[in-house]
Amino acid sequence: MNRNTEIFAAEIERLKAVDNFRIFPQAKHEGKYIFSDGKKMLNLSSNDYLGIASEGRLWKEFISSAEIDKELPSSSSSRLLTGNFPEYEELEDSLSALFGKESALVFNSGYHANTGILPALCGHDTLILADKLVHASIIDGIRLSGADYIRYRHNDYVQLERLVKDNSPKYRTIFIVTESIFSMDGDEADLVRLAEIKQTYGNIMLYADEAHAFGLRGEKGTGCAEEKGVSGEIDLLVGTFGKAAASMGAYVVCDNIIREYLINKMRTLIFSTALPPLNIKWTNFVINRIPSMKERRERLGEISAKLRDTLKHKGINTPSTSHIIPVITGDSGKAILKAKNLQDAGFYVLPVRPPTVPVGSSRLRLSMTANIPDEDTERLSKLL
Ligand SMILES: *Cc1c(COP(=O)(O)O)cnc(C)c1O
Repeated sequence: MNRNTEIFAAEIERLKAVDNFRIFPQAKHEGKYIFSDGKKMLNLSSNDYLGIASEGRLWKEFISSAEIDKELPSSSSSRLLTGNFPEYEELEDSLSALFGKESALVFNSGYHANTGILPALCGHDTLILADKLVHASIIDGIRLSGADYIRYRHNDYVQLERLVKDNSPKYRTIFIVTESIFSMDGDEADLVRLAEIKQTYGNIMLYADEAHAFGLRGEKGTGCAEEKGVSGEIDLLVGTFGKAAASMGAYVVCDNIIREYLINKMRTLIFSTALPPLNIKWTNFVINRIPSMKERRERLGEISAKLRDTLKHKGINTPSTSHIIPVITGDSGKAILKAKNLQDAGFYVLPVRPPTVPVGSSRLRLSMTANIPDEDTERLSKLL
């Protein structure tokens, strides 16, 4: 080892000493099961919430559809050069119709969306107020924006409103940024309350990331904003296709003027090769079927509620109100041990540790999917 890498090696040793060293897990997939270490385990760490990816039925239907051989697996350019295939605008038309919004814009990933939107829209005359538990990609977007920001206590709208009141006269615009279903705690923002705060003060824009709610909430499955009837109040309604939609990419639905502005100013959109038309076509194929997947949404809601109830009866504390159900152990070593015990019993559960969650709040993160059989939820409930 040379002098230049010693410092990295020392940090690796430190991570190992506090049980926070990570490697890529080795696993083979077979439908909703994972094979690892010679064990077959039910996958409880997947974001495939509707079971679309693991089931594979829709994908087969898609690839056997007529024009699939004409779809390119590469776009070869940013959309502002030659990468703007018609598939993109078809998908954006589907999205704006589905959400009943003026327009939609598609991105390569949720990470691109969240690191690109705020830097494009915010500057020295804006203030960003973000929930303490927003996703790392949003935090990176806030930092890249260079704008003033304050992170309010998780879901503490009393503190938020005080911050808005104090700062509203000092800034041209205040951006309030939240997730709808929080990725690590599985609890929810009060979007209705946020809409009320927005209506009280004139210069607020609301930004909600529905990565974990898209496909799952509301009659049409577009997310919590639809479920709560506040889609019209959310200026930047963001979601991703890599989770329930079993694809890759992300969207914002917004006013047309914001879409035009982002196309002109958003660096993660402008300076990155667009997703392949094949992928976009698949996303559109799934999106068009999501509204009719009400049964799967209901099933997911039922088994998740059952598991949360069981935990509550056993006195195990979880903040969850959704299909993402964390069991917080605090200590990373404990989370690793408990995950291993569940894996030995046939459930593929992974520990989640810092920096993904705050120090001292390591946990198991159970992520329910609509295709988990009842026997398995019952057996899992007994084990926890
Ligand atoms: C997964 C996730 C992202 C990132 O989306 P990708 O498409 O995986 O890059 C953004 N925000 C939240 C809340 C997420 O959970």
